Amino acid sequence: MSRPDWGVQEEDLAFFAREIDSFLPPHIFDAHCHLYQCIDFKGATPALAADGPERVDWACFLRHMAAITPGRTYAGLAFPFPAKGVDFAGANAFLAAELAAHPATLRGSMLIEPGMDAEFVRESVRRNGFSGLKCYHVYAATAPTWDAAVEAYLPEEHVRVAHDLGLTITLHMVRARAIADPVNQEAIARLARKYPNARWILAHAARGFNPYHTVEGIGALRGIGNIWCDTSAVTEAGAFEAIVRTLGADRLVYGADFPVTHLRGRCVAIGDSFLWLTADNTNFGAAHAAVHPVLVQLESLRALKQACWNLGLGDTAVEGIFSRHAEALFKP
Ligand SMILES: [Zn+2]
Repeated sequence: MSRPDWGVQEEDLAFFAREIDSFLPPHIFDAHCHLYQCIDFKGATPALAADGPERVDWACFLRHMAAITPGRTYAGLAFPFPAKGVDFAGANAFLAAELAAHPATLRGSMLIEPGMDAEFVRESVRRNGFSGLKCYHVYAATAPTWDAAVEAYLPEEHVRVAHDLGLTITLHMVRARAIADPVNQEAIARLARKYPNARWILAHAARGFNPYHTVEGIGALRGIGNIWCDTSAVTEAGAFEAIVRTLGADRLVYGADFPVTHLRGRCVAIGDSFLWLTADNTNFGAAHAAVHPVLVQLESLRALKQACWNLGLGDTAVEGIFSRHAEALFKP
């Protein structure tokens, strides 16, 4: 079977022309993309990475974006692919080399794990010119890591480094109910208030893959001045709307989660959880008419378009989400 992911199909181009082209601004700052080399996966290589190129650098990102969002210029914030067993030194060094090669357009976040000495993190950030930290639950000691509290994968001393150096922290929170979970609400609100120079970017619309979690919980972060949310890989509109209504339009930043962008399918809320629908787990032939799933990035852009429409946002506000807000965050 030919892999449905990574490649661009006729359906994708037709979808882009029909749904996205007239909405998408000419310039984009993508605040959530992964750059990596497969050689740095010392544990199991994630399936999506295994199906794609060996070396996923900024030029590779730009090539893949040009194929599905033609005619746009890109800047961005990148970090390594946070797989279990990754070679942290190798993955961060690869990113640092990309930053050095593309200083005008690329910013980067250091991949950290909770066991790293805070002074080592501080020194690595300074030496490599990183702008942020990227933590991830798979490095927590909690089992299962999907239930980990924030500080199990982002210790307070790492937040203090982010505060001291004015870094962003990209946080993909876990636990079943995400930002509707009081444990997550309390930790994020407390750490954000205590360390106001650290700028939080809550990935996946505060992990609103089930938008009702963000609708329910985002109010816990209202009025905190150093919290943003990215749009990455979210394919329903409700979480985007809740963030704009509750935190303000200037708190939403576009991100796409490359290479998740190039997964074919989408994520849907179901019950109090969510499910990724792909050809691996879904019989697309069961529908009454032909179903041709498109790439996640296109689904996510359509959801964002719907949110902007529902919120009555004009071109200037939309351009803010796609570039201005994030560029303000990463101004030297
Ligand atoms: Zn990601």
